[in-house]
Amino acid sequence: MSKTVLNEKEKSYLLSTIRSINDFPKPGIIFRDITTLLNNRDAFNFLLDHLEERYKSYELDFITGIESRGFIFGAALAARLRVPFVPIRKPGKLPYITISQKYSLEYGVDEIEIHIDAFSNVKDAKVLLIDDLIATGGTAKASVELINLTNAKCVEACFIINLKELCGSKNLANLTKVYNVLEV
Ligand code: AMP
Repeated sequence: MSKTVLNEKEKSYLLSTIRSINDFPKPGIIFRDITTLLNNRDAFNFLLDHLEERYKSYELDFITGIESRGFIFGAALAARLRVPFVPIRKPGKLPYITISQKYSLEYGVDEIEIHIDAFSNVKDAKVLLIDDLIATGGTAKASVELINLTNAKCVEACFIINLKELCGSKNLANLTKVYNVLEV
Protein backbone atom coordinates (compact mmCIF):
# COMPACT_ATOMS: atom_id res chain seq x y z
CA MET A 1 0.00 0.00 0.00
CA SER A 2 1.30 3.48 -0.79
CA LYS A 3 2.22 5.81 2.07
CA THR A 4 -0.10 8.80 1.91
CA VAL A 5 0.88 10.87 4.98
CA LEU A 6 4.11 11.51 6.89
CA ASN A 7 4.71 10.29 10.45
CA GLU A 8 5.52 12.77 13.24
CA LYS A 9 9.29 12.23 12.98
CA GLU A 10 9.24 12.89 9.24
CA LYS A 11 7.10 16.00 9.74
CA SER A 12 9.51 17.34 12.39
CA TYR A 13 12.42 16.74 10.04
CA LEU A 14 10.82 18.62 7.14
CA LEU A 15 9.61 21.43 9.38
CA SER A 16 13.15 21.85 10.72
CA THR A 17 14.32 22.66 7.19
CA ILE A 18 11.88 25.60 6.83
CA ARG A 19 13.13 28.92 8.21
CA SER A 20 10.81 31.26 10.13
CA ILE A 21 11.38 35.00 9.79
CA ASN A 22 9.68 37.23 12.35
CA ASP A 23 8.00 40.47 11.26
CA PHE A 24 8.28 39.85 7.52
CA PRO A 25 6.86 41.36 5.32
CA LYS A 26 5.26 43.39 8.13
CA PRO A 27 5.21 43.47 11.93
CA GLY A 28 3.41 40.55 13.55
CA ILE A 29 3.77 38.12 10.61
CA ILE A 30 5.94 35.02 10.97
CA PHE A 31 7.04 34.33 7.39
CA ARG A 32 7.62 30.64 6.62
CA ASP A 33 10.59 30.66 4.27
CA ILE A 34 10.64 27.51 2.13
CA THR A 35 13.84 28.55 0.27
CA THR A 36 15.82 26.74 2.98
CA LEU A 37 13.92 23.53 2.22
CA LEU A 38 14.59 23.98 -1.51
CA ASN A 39 18.25 24.66 -0.74
CA ASN A 40 18.53 21.32 1.06
CA ARG A 41 18.83 18.53 -1.53
CA ASP A 42 17.81 15.76 0.88
CA ALA A 43 14.79 17.63 2.26
CA PHE A 44 13.51 18.72 -1.16
CA ASN A 45 13.81 15.18 -2.52
CA PHE A 46 12.29 13.69 0.60
CA LEU A 47 9.25 15.95 0.13
CA LEU A 48 8.98 15.13 -3.58
CA ASP A 49 9.33 11.39 -2.90
CA HIS A 50 6.45 11.69 -0.44
CA LEU A 51 4.22 13.70 -2.79
CA GLU A 52 4.98 11.32 -5.66
CA GLU A 53 4.07 8.34 -3.48
CA ARG A 54 0.82 9.96 -2.35
CA TYR A 55 -0.35 11.13 -5.77
CA LYS A 56 0.82 8.33 -8.06
CA SER A 57 -2.51 6.50 -7.62
CA TYR A 58 -4.70 9.59 -8.19
CA GLU A 59 -4.61 9.31 -11.99
CA LEU A 60 -4.21 13.08 -12.25
CA ASP A 61 -4.61 14.75 -15.62
CA PHE A 62 -2.94 18.03 -14.54
CA ILE A 63 -1.19 19.72 -11.66
CA THR A 64 -1.81 23.45 -11.15
CA GLY A 65 0.44 25.65 -9.04
CA ILE A 66 -0.35 29.08 -7.61
CA GLU A 67 2.10 31.92 -8.37
CA SER A 68 4.81 31.86 -7.42
CA ARG A 69 5.99 29.30 -4.87
CA GLY A 70 3.30 26.86 -5.97
CA PHE A 71 5.10 26.73 -9.33
CA ILE A 72 8.21 25.26 -7.72
CA PHE A 73 6.54 22.34 -5.97
CA GLY A 74 3.85 21.88 -8.62
CA ALA A 75 6.19 21.75 -11.59
CA ALA A 76 8.66 19.46 -9.82
CA LEU A 77 5.88 17.04 -8.87
CA ALA A 78 4.34 17.21 -12.34
CA ALA A 79 7.68 16.20 -13.86
CA ARG A 80 8.00 13.30 -11.39
CA LEU A 81 4.47 12.06 -12.16
CA ARG A 82 4.78 12.81 -15.88
CA VAL A 83 1.60 14.91 -15.97
CA PRO A 84 1.26 18.41 -17.46
CA PHE A 85 1.65 21.53 -15.33
CA VAL A 86 -0.67 24.57 -15.44
CA PRO A 87 0.20 27.92 -13.80
CA ILE A 88 -2.39 30.05 -11.98
CA ARG A 89 -1.08 33.62 -12.11
CA LYS A 90 -1.60 37.17 -10.96
CA PRO A 91 -3.51 39.41 -13.43
CA GLY A 92 -1.81 40.48 -16.65
CA LYS A 93 0.92 37.82 -16.66
CA LEU A 94 -0.59 35.15 -18.90
CA PRO A 95 -0.34 36.08 -22.58
CA TYR A 96 -3.30 34.18 -24.11
CA ILE A 97 -7.07 34.46 -23.35
CA THR A 98 -7.68 33.99 -19.63
CA ILE A 99 -10.52 33.52 -17.19
CA SER A 100 -10.18 35.13 -13.80
CA GLN A 101 -11.53 34.98 -10.28
CA LYS A 102 -11.54 37.76 -7.71
CA TYR A 103 -11.04 37.20 -3.99
CA SER A 104 -11.03 39.36 -0.87
CA LEU A 105 -7.95 40.38 1.02
CA GLU A 106 -7.76 41.92 4.48
CA TYR A 107 -8.03 45.26 2.66
CA GLY A 108 -9.41 45.25 -0.89
CA VAL A 109 -9.56 42.53 -3.52
CA ASP A 110 -7.11 40.54 -5.60
CA GLU A 111 -7.51 38.41 -8.67
CA ILE A 112 -5.97 35.30 -10.24
CA GLU A 113 -6.05 34.02 -13.79
CA ILE A 114 -5.70 30.83 -15.79
CA HIS A 115 -5.50 30.25 -19.55
CA ILE A 116 -8.95 29.48 -20.92
CA ASP A 117 -7.68 26.38 -22.76
CA ALA A 118 -5.46 25.04 -19.98
CA PHE A 119 -7.44 21.79 -19.57
CA SER A 120 -9.33 21.76 -22.85
CA ASN A 121 -7.70 18.67 -24.34
CA VAL A 122 -9.03 16.42 -21.53
CA LYS A 123 -12.74 15.99 -20.76
CA ASP A 124 -13.56 16.31 -17.02
CA ALA A 125 -9.86 16.65 -16.23
CA LYS A 126 -8.77 15.63 -12.72
CA VAL A 127 -6.63 18.43 -11.33
CA LEU A 128 -4.41 18.70 -8.26
CA LEU A 129 -3.87 22.23 -6.92
CA ILE A 130 -0.64 22.93 -5.06
CA ASP A 131 0.83 25.86 -3.14
CA ASP A 132 3.53 26.28 -0.53
CA LEU A 133 1.26 27.53 2.23
CA ILE A 134 -2.38 28.09 3.14
CA ALA A 135 -3.16 30.98 5.48
CA THR A 136 -6.68 32.47 5.24
CA GLY A 137 -7.34 30.26 2.21
CA GLY A 138 -8.55 33.13 0.02
CA THR A 139 -6.08 32.47 -2.79
CA ALA A 140 -6.67 28.73 -2.71
CA LYS A 141 -10.47 29.07 -2.68
CA ALA A 142 -10.39 31.35 -5.73
CA SER A 143 -8.01 28.89 -7.44
CA VAL A 144 -10.30 25.91 -6.84
CA GLU A 145 -13.23 27.97 -8.15
CA LEU A 146 -11.20 28.91 -11.21
CA ILE A 147 -10.32 25.27 -11.97
CA ASN A 148 -13.93 24.18 -11.56
CA LEU A 149 -15.12 27.08 -13.79
CA THR A 150 -13.15 25.60 -16.69
CA ASN A 151 -15.15 22.33 -16.43
CA ALA A 152 -12.17 20.53 -14.95
CA LYS A 153 -12.40 19.18 -11.39
CA CYS A 154 -10.07 20.02 -8.54
CA VAL A 155 -9.74 16.59 -6.90
CA GLU A 156 -7.46 17.81 -4.09
CA ALA A 157 -5.62 20.91 -2.89
CA CYS A 158 -2.18 20.28 -1.39
CA PHE A 159 -0.16 22.65 0.79
CA ILE A 160 3.28 22.10 2.23
CA ILE A 161 2.31 24.17 5.31
CA ASN A 162 -1.06 24.92 6.88
CA LEU A 163 -1.27 27.86 9.29
CA LYS A 164 -3.85 26.12 11.46
CA GLU A 165 -5.16 29.02 13.50
CA LEU A 166 -6.32 30.93 10.41
CA CYS A 167 -8.70 28.05 9.51
CA GLY A 168 -8.18 28.47 5.74
CA SER A 169 -7.67 24.77 5.24
CA LYS A 170 -10.75 23.87 7.27
CA ASN A 171 -12.90 26.28 5.24
CA LEU A 172 -11.48 25.11 1.92
CA ALA A 173 -12.52 21.56 2.80
CA ASN A 174 -16.12 22.60 1.99
CA LEU A 175 -15.02 22.98 -1.63
CA THR A 176 -12.47 20.22 -2.25
CA LYS A 177 -10.37 17.59 -0.49
CA VAL A 178 -7.39 19.19 1.25
CA TYR A 179 -4.01 17.69 2.16
CA ASN A 180 -1.55 19.59 4.34
CA VAL A 181 1.90 18.02 4.51
CA LEU A 182 2.80 20.05 7.63
CA GLU A 183 0.87 22.16 10.13
CA VAL A 184 2.07 24.97 12.38
P1 AMP B 1 -3.98 33.07 1.89
O1 AMP B 1 -4.72 33.45 0.63
O2 AMP B 1 -4.26 33.98 3.04
O3 AMP B 1 -4.21 31.61 2.25
O4 AMP B 1 -2.43 33.27 1.60
C1 AMP B 1 -1.71 32.29 0.97
C2 AMP B 1 -0.59 32.84 0.14
O5 AMP B 1 0.16 33.84 0.83
C3 AMP B 1 0.36 31.73 -0.21
O6 AMP B 1 0.67 31.81 -1.60
C4 AMP B 1 1.59 31.95 0.66
O7 AMP B 1 2.75 31.74 -0.10
C5 AMP B 1 1.47 33.39 1.15
N1 AMP B 1 1.61 33.50 2.63
C6 AMP B 1 0.64 33.90 3.50
N2 AMP B 1 1.08 33.91 4.77
C7 AMP B 1 2.36 33.49 4.73
C8 AMP B 1 3.37 33.26 5.73
N3 AMP B 1 3.16 33.46 7.03
N4 AMP B 1 4.58 32.80 5.33
C9 AMP B 1 4.82 32.57 4.01
N5 AMP B 1 3.93 32.77 3.03
C10 AMP B 1 2.71 33.23 3.36
